[in-house]
Amino acid sequence: MIEKALLDILVCPKCKTTVKPEGDQLVCQNAACGLCYPIRNGIPIMLIDEARKPGEPPHFDAGGVNHSV
Ligand SMILES: [Zn+2]
Repeated sequence: MIEKALLDILVCPKCKTTVKPEGDQLVCQNAACGLCYPIRNGIPIMLIDEARKPGEPPHFDAGGVNHSV
């Protein structure tokens, strides 16, 4: 579980909007952005390269390699 104090300082690195935990990921609350950041071993990975957009299949589970874009 992520501490609320940590959540308070976590923002989407892309749009600077706050994120909200949903399952095993953090979801950007900006509807126009909506990137989902994975949480690995309790540590949120706040990297745009590691994030995915809603509706896209997860591609960050394969060793963190992201060939999209
Ligand atoms: Zn965002």
